[in-house]
Amino acid sequence: MRTLSEVLPPPRQPLPHFDITLPPPDITRWADGNCGIAGVHHFEASQPGPHAVITALMHGNEYAGAWVLDTLLSRSVRPVRGRLSLIFLNLQAFARFDPERPTLSRFVEEDMNRLWCPELVRSGHTSLEMERVRAISPIIETADMLLDIHSMLWPAPPVLLSGLTTKSLAHAKALSAFQPGTPWVVQDAGHETGPRLIDHVHFASNRTRATACLLEAGQHWLPNSRLVAYTTACLFLQQAGVITPQPDLTVLPSPRLPRTATVTHCVQAHTARFTFIKPFCSGDIIPKKGTVLAIDGAEEIRTPYDNCLLVMPNLRPMRGHTAVRLGRPAEA
Ligand SMILES: [Zn+2]
Repeated sequence: MRTLSEVLPPPRQPLPHFDITLPPPDITRWADGNCGIAGVHHFEASQPGPHAVITALMHGNEYAGAWVLDTLLSRSVRPVRGRLSLIFLNLQAFARFDPERPTLSRFVEEDMNRLWCPELVRSGHTSLEMERVRAISPIIETADMLLDIHSMLWPAPPVLLSGLTTKSLAHAKALSAFQPGTPWVVQDAGHETGPRLIDHVHFASNRTRATACLLEAGQHWLPNSRLVAYTTACLFLQQAGVITPQPDLTVLPSPRLPRTATVTHCVQAHTARFTFIKPFCSGDIIPKKGTVLAIDGAEEIRTPYDNCLLVMPNLRPMRGHTAVRLGRPAEA
């Protein structure tokens, strides 16, 4: 006869308290947009050039990118050639941000970053987020270069994610190469639960030249994440050729070679008892193959190869959710 404590999973540890040292920006004056779509600001230069797009607030509680758009709009940054779209995505989720319960405003009805698929846009599927994706998709489908700004719950150095195409990898590497810290560039195929914006066929197809990458700027509510996001956004606009170099931008005087890795495994928590053996951090490299990372019920999760990169471990994964992605670094 087993005791009750052996039958029941151990009590789930609550999320630790995260200080909110970066307050949410006041974006009231930008909420209407300037082109007939809420939250969308679009500018055109008289000289021809690419269409560069920066998106923020895909997730309502990740507002470092909203600070960046607020700064660019407040400074009246305009394209010197081509077109520029600055898009606040999930305004309604952001409006629900509550510093007392800051993790609850990621989305309203469903994760907006699993819906970027033309078939879904044409389908009868509906939700608050789906309608927003429907409204914004025509702009996305004319983008030549896109930067989607996110942040992370668990404190970690920034990372740039690209899809699997060579063109988007080159785009992400160019953004990393000029930045302090030279963030990791990680290629991954996305999520089984639906395409992210950077996985939209417009960017993921080799039949177009359009590129996209996703910045995870650091912890959601730390001022440094805003700084990283701003530096990356200015670099992005310079590299796209739509703005002239910004004098107040801190970048490396000469580019460094970015470190790149490819995600090989997406580790799901199969039980509610999934526990990492220690509080790993995104960007950690585990030198030895076979090192135990976590215990999931009766199963041990081990590194599948030497020098395994941990990508955004979620230290409190729910059952069925991704606990960590494992990346194999490219040969130097
Ligand atoms: Zn996000």
